[in-house]
Amino acid sequence: MSPLALFGGTFDPIHVGHLRAAIEAREALAADEIRLLPCALPPHREQPEVGAEQRLRMLKAAIAGQPGLRADERELRRSGPSYTYDTLVSVRAEIGESRPLVLVLGADAFAGLPDWHRWRELIAQAHLAVLTRPDAHGLIDPRLEELLATVGTADPADLRRTPCGRLLRLQIPPLPLSSTLVRERLRRGRSVRFLVPDAVLAMIESQGWYGVSGC
Ligand code: ATP
Repeated sequence: MSPLALFGGTFDPIHVGHLRAAIEAREALAADEIRLLPCALPPHREQPEVGAEQRLRMLKAAIAGQPGLRADERELRRSGPSYTYDTLVSVRAEIGESRPLVLVLGADAFAGLPDWHRWRELIAQAHLAVLTRPDAHGLIDPRLEELLATVGTADPADLRRTPCGRLLRLQIPPLPLSSTLVRERLRRGRSVRFLVPDAVLAMIESQGWYGVSGC
């Protein structure tokens, strides 16, 4: 059965590193659909510079017309911190017990997993697919090493055999790009052309977000 993939983030703003990662993951997993979920209140980091509805608008503009990529607004419609565990439980209730569900995350996000709410229970709801990211350091928590040793796989086909419970490491072409870098460049009046989709850049410029002087 084709998996449903989920890719959460702050997307402050969405950039081509996110979009390439989503496309690479969808293709590798042979997933019909990958849903991008902007978080309302990220529990483990400073608060986003731009509001949730604005980040959602940029995300929707970025994926418009891209087959298999969809925005999922559920974390924005919930109150309180955007815990991934709650999101997985809610998506699992929507798709039923048998369809494979895959939570896709970059290596930097994976490295912080033991700080997440109910992190050990995530794989009872979904598989995890961890994408290589150029700026992520190699050291990982021994608890994650243990998880890799017990449920790790390098074969995406393993994630189609069961609804949840495996941990896939996926190599993708590296794009050393982050929202932090995009925000910094905007703040300094530098160009971010081709780092974010044109439609996103147009929105940032017209609204004057991230310290850009609006037009
Ligand atoms: P910031 O710089 O504000 O921390 P970010 O660029 O890391 O933002 P997030 O919205 O925090 O973006 O990330 C959402 C998800 O996308 C995370 O799982 C993250 O690891 C992944 N991700 C972001 N950029 C890349 C990239 N260039 N390559 C692979 N994965 C990425």
